[in-house]
Amino acid sequence: MHDRKSLGPLRLFGWFLVGLFIVFFLLLPTIRLFTDASLTQTSVSSSEIDDQSTSDRVLLYATSFFATVSFLAIGAAVGSYLNVIVYRVPRKISLTFTRSGCPKCGAPIHLSDNIPIISWCRLKGRCRACQAPISVRYPLVEISVAVIFLTLYFRELLSGGTNIPVRPPNLYTGVLWILFYTKWDLVGLYLLHCFLLTTILGWGLINADGFRVPRSSLRTTLLIVCVAILISPDLMPVQLKLSLTQSLYGSDRIQALISSLCGILSGALLGSFLTWIVKKEWLAGSSQANAITYAFILCGAIYGSQSMPVITLIAFIFILLQRMITHNLKYPVLKSPPIAAFLAIFSFQFFWGSLTWL
Ligand SMILES: [Zn+2]
Repeated sequence: MHDRKSLGPLRLFGWFLVGLFIVFFLLLPTIRLFTDASLTQTSVSSSEIDDQSTSDRVLLYATSFFATVSFLAIGAAVGSYLNVIVYRVPRKISLTFTRSGCPKCGAPIHLSDNIPIISWCRLKGRCRACQAPISVRYPLVEISVAVIFLTLYFRELLSGGTNIPVRPPNLYTGVLWILFYTKWDLVGLYLLHCFLLTTILGWGLINADGFRVPRSSLRTTLLIVCVAILISPDLMPVQLKLSLTQSLYGSDRIQALISSLCGILSGALLGSFLTWIVKKEWLAGSSQANAITYAFILCGAIYGSQSMPVITLIAFIFILLQRMITHNLKYPVLKSPPIAAFLAIFSFQFFWGSLTWL
């Protein structure tokens, strides 16, 4: 009881955020929908903000700030769940029916001690029950996923998709035009790419812990991606333009799926090749690196086969750099080649669009 009282201000802040969320993302857009029915996208652009009144401008800045905080919080929450997955999946513990507990004493973790990043800092990195130290890796993973969500939010979502090849970027950008007048195809791409990078980070961490990534994990992920592409072919902007498949099926969906399957194939080939080099040259027998092949297969499914040679090259350079930089360090996560491959794919995501010569 004593501990829960001290949470008062934090809980109040939580409700404050929920309230703000409702006002900004539900109430205001609804009001705007009824009052500004005549307002079309061409009448105002974000560069014409000077024409707006001060109150409008303050509202826009507040909204931008609040949207940024929201994406940060969502990323941290996903990162918190990634910690659970990375711990449980290789140990074959159920993801749904077991409550999280302290790995040392088994005491169940109360919901109020499960707030990403904040809880770890409040407890000063120790278990509330047994005072056993909790690895700094947990908040670091939460921060990493928050960084993925936030950087892609600025680079991909708010920019109108300037990092995406083939798909023409949105003309009107910023919080107002992308989020309020929601551009669903771009939001879909954003979510897909966050999913891709978070998954690859998780697989890399499983390998860094000395476990193999289970094949079922790859199967489930690929199934989700392929179904998403079949439902919305726009999620696959770089497609193979095969006259054969067009005349055979004449469907965007089939063409997107075939492009994705070709990507999976090239990802599997190049990924296995890179893993073979890494294991032969740098890894002792017990070390795991199957996350590299899995990551490449998933990248192939999402970026398409055209991007895979470039990704292979960047990943190879990143792994080489990692060998040089972390040579004398003893942290297994920093020395794990799949983590370097993750960083390579994360950087690729930023300039994917400038590779138009492919
Ligand atoms: Zn404990």
